[in-house]
Amino acid sequence: MADYLRIENLKKYFKTAKGTVHAVDDVSFSIERGKTLGVVGESGCGKSTLGRCIIHLLEPTSGKIFFDGADITKPTPEEQKALRQRMQMIFQDPFSSLNPRMTVADSILEPMEIHHMYDGDKDRQREEVARIMDTVGLARRLADSYPHELDGGRRQRVGIARALALQPDFIVCDEPVSALDVSIQAQILNLLQDLKEQMGLTFIFITHDLSVVNHFADEIAVMYLGQLIEKAPTEELFDHPIHPYTRALLSAIPIPEVGISRPERILLKGEISSPIDPPDECRFAKRCIYTCDQCHQSCPKLMEVRPGHFVSCHLWKDFLSE
Ligand code: SF4
Repeated sequence: MADYLRIENLKKYFKTAKGTVHAVDDVSFSIERGKTLGVVGESGCGKSTLGRCIIHLLEPTSGKIFFDGADITKPTPEEQKALRQRMQMIFQDPFSSLNPRMTVADSILEPMEIHHMYDGDKDRQREEVARIMDTVGLARRLADSYPHELDGGRRQRVGIARALALQPDFIVCDEPVSALDVSIQAQILNLLQDLKEQMGLTFIFITHDLSVVNHFADEIAVMYLGQLIEKAPTEELFDHPIHPYTRALLSAIPIPEVGISRPERILLKGEISSPIDPPDECRFAKRCIYTCDQCHQSCPKLMEVRPGHFVSCHLWKDFLSE
């Protein structure tokens, strides 16, 4: 199947008084239409910056972005507006991403008005707001409520409804459940899964928690300090993790069932390296228990070591499992 979204050598650097922050550093990957890519990594690894660059909330420093066959790296303002209709974002904190002075209905209506949907027909737009509220499981009686009158789960449903208002086909979900209680997390994940199946949506799902994307993502990309360090189909990554960082993340996932064996917990030691002007060495070298001279001499390149399974580690052969 052809790539629906393809990122080539994407970089996003920020100049600071202390030097250049390499927030996203030479990241390449692709996603097929209708699939979900989970992007996983700890805070500050660049995963949210990556998502924002893809939908042009931030301009990349260099690299290429192709979407549905077109080069969208540097869109004109008109192209940007058209892309905004097709590419949307769901934010981590619905409370801060929603306007506190707007009701639920007005929040969902606003993007339709900006994009003159339904020829500006107000009645038609209001009908569509009601339909979207049904789709995301928001009772219509909440249409005139304000964000502070809703609980976290309902607020996130409004955030999802707002993202759906323009009928997009690609959505970046930036930690959409991490601010919610566990029981509400499951409801929102189930809703996103249903929307994906009903509407054929393509997702990038950003999270710091590998267990959240286990049942949701078709593929998982692991980021560390601005770089993509491992990418594989979800089952392959969980069954045959290769990079020491991925293995440490997997070992930290709680297993609720009694009697199921779990990998030995790998505790990461040492400080996270600085993303400011990083040296040409493995970014994980300061925390990796396998670091050798080679790891300090050059930064390993991402390479395919099993079908569809990419990893950047000089010692990958030592970590291959059956
Ligand atoms: Fe560890 Fe070296 Fe592999 Fe980096 S390249 S993950 S330091 S073994």
